[in-house]
Amino acid sequence: MPNITGHTELVGLMAYPIRHTQSPVTHNLAYDKNGDDVIQLAFEVDNDTLEPAVESIRALKMLGSNISMPNKTVVHKYLDDVDEAAGLCGAINTVVNTRDENGNVTGKLKGYNTDGMGYWQAIKEEGIDFKGMRMVLVGTGGAATAIAVRGALDAIKELHVFNIRDKFYERGEEIVELINKETKCKAYMYDLADKGKLKTEMQAADIFCDATGVGMHPLEELSNIPDGSFFKEDLIVTDTVYAPRETVMMKQAKESGVKRVYNGMGMMLFQALIAIKLYTGKDTDVAYMKERLG
Ligand code: NAD
Repeated sequence: MPNITGHTELVGLMAYPIRHTQSPVTHNLAYDKNGDDVIQLAFEVDNDTLEPAVESIRALKMLGSNISMPNKTVVHKYLDDVDEAAGLCGAINTVVNTRDENGNVTGKLKGYNTDGMGYWQAIKEEGIDFKGMRMVLVGTGGAATAIAVRGALDAIKELHVFNIRDKFYERGEEIVELINKETKCKAYMYDLADKGKLKTEMQAADIFCDATGVGMHPLEELSNIPDGSFFKEDLIVTDTVYAPRETVMMKQAKESGVKRVYNGMGMMLFQALIAIKLYTGKDTDVAYMKERLG
């Protein structure tokens, strides 16, 4: 039971639906471990109630709020400032009530996207220096876009993006164009149906990421990769899915001899720890969090 007092400070989580979320468990464990008198609470907020909800961050002098669907692409309208990567990918998952030189919140709200930062931090924590790498990324939704933009800004050299021709394909083309215009990374977009191109690019890549819903319920029996011959042993293979802990794609990679295969747990943990640092300025003990969250 947290020791809530008159001094306890509040971090929000604004989304709808949101009652299934794991976020307050992660945040409150970290605040407790760090000795911070802070709690996170989840609030059911949709686009209709987002503006007054964001205004309440200022009025209640909250430290900020996590933002999830359907608000990630809308919340920027109500903020004072937006971080470069969040601006490029057009989605915000963390709103910070910035502080003055005395550490007091100012009411000036800045938006960040810690999903992309979290993915790349998880890679770094595995001892991998991704600068100059060539990446194959499957997916052009929210997670994929955040990974692509942050990777491009942080010196991924080439980005080869594949997606099925659904409603997300056009968004992928826009992001690739934006990355080519705004960063030094060279980005390319392909139809995921072109398996020959996918295989060629995977053979030439250093790092592979599947950032689609394939591999999790209701698509848990599926993989975007036709067979194990697409993987070479030294490829770094990542999936953004964390439930199940091992997707069909990850199994294919391991059975093909790939040693470095990672699920989405690292991305999930680090997107939270980066947001926590933005709110409180503190780093959290990663080993402790991994052990407690399983
Ligand atoms: P989204 O709805 O924004 O994007 C979905 C993506 O999946 C699109 O690229 C879409 O084209 C693709 N897709 C959907 N059905 C497909 C199919 N049958 N075959 C091939 N591609 C298909 O979703 P999102 O928020 O970007 O989430 C994508 C994945 O990333 C999910 O598995 C989600 O659980 C995961 N995710 C993980 C974290 C984390 O912290 N680890 C964070 C966010 C999302």
